[in-house]
Amino acid sequence: MWQKLNMRYIFLIYLFTTSLFAWGARGHRIVADIAAQHLTPETAQWVKLLLSGRSLEAVANNPDKERQNPLWKCAEPFHFVNIDDGLTYQASKKNPGGDIVVSLEYFTALLSDPKKSTAESVMALTWLVHLVGDLHQPLHSGRSCDKGGNKIDVLWLGKTSNLHKVWDSQIFSKLRWSDKAHAAYLEGSQKFERRENSMNFVAWAEETIPLRPQIYTCYQKDGCCRPESACKNGSASFGACSKLTTEPARLGYQYLEEHKPILDAQLYLAGRRLAELLNAIHTKKMSAQKQQPFQKPEWAAMEKCMATILKKK
Ligand SMILES: [Zn+2]
Repeated sequence: MWQKLNMRYIFLIYLFTTSLFAWGARGHRIVADIAAQHLTPETAQWVKLLLSGRSLEAVANNPDKERQNPLWKCAEPFHFVNIDDGLTYQASKKNPGGDIVVSLEYFTALLSDPKKSTAESVMALTWLVHLVGDLHQPLHSGRSCDKGGNKIDVLWLGKTSNLHKVWDSQIFSKLRWSDKAHAAYLEGSQKFERRENSMNFVAWAEETIPLRPQIYTCYQKDGCCRPESACKNGSASFGACSKLTTEPARLGYQYLEEHKPILDAQLYLAGRRLAELLNAIHTKKMSAQKQQPFQKPEWAAMEKCMATILKKK
């Protein structure tokens, strides 16, 4: 108990101090660090061999680092999925180039297949580490009308930004802890409950939809409803698809403080689920007779893209 209270106290001290680092990659590193602590010794050894001694953290951001590389252009849709309000994943319009749910299935199958080359396995592992993180950023399973919050202009601490960017990176910008310290704080303060949907990527994508009213609602928060008349009591007053032109919401410390519980819970959930996934893949890989045939029509786009990247690298 005291340990938890102390950790919270220390965290609050750091909460409002100034950032010294670039934060864009922080979420991924924290998720990878949590996952690394929950790998079985056998899985950890396998991962170490595959990554030639590099850690999960070290590769977690590679797919984002390569986004400017023209060869990786085909992988752009892998990072997200659009599920509009009121719809399920199945009922949503599918991107022929793939999405994060199909990509997670594809890379899970790829990494589970003992017949694949080391280069393919390393690529699959790298993507899984990255994508499990991405899918737990609530706006990576977003609405098509605002491109997962990318078209929602906001002022973050007075500077022009957008809602997606805030959740990707800027929400970390006032947390001066190291990634390791943040992961340790989450380990001490969060609980992990194994859910029915343990390995169900569709369920992961859909479970952040109910968080949208909290993420988008700004009523009486940081004075973000401007003009005041645009706000309805308790309603999602900015970011409603029909109101994309309203004045940018002002987000800052109050928004951060109120949404930190969502951020922390999602980071921890992602880390634990990533570990479960890798442990399960490693176990499955060891029993080759359980292999499923490696083929699904919706994986064609991924296969083609990976072939391009791996051949020309
Ligand atoms: Zn990404």
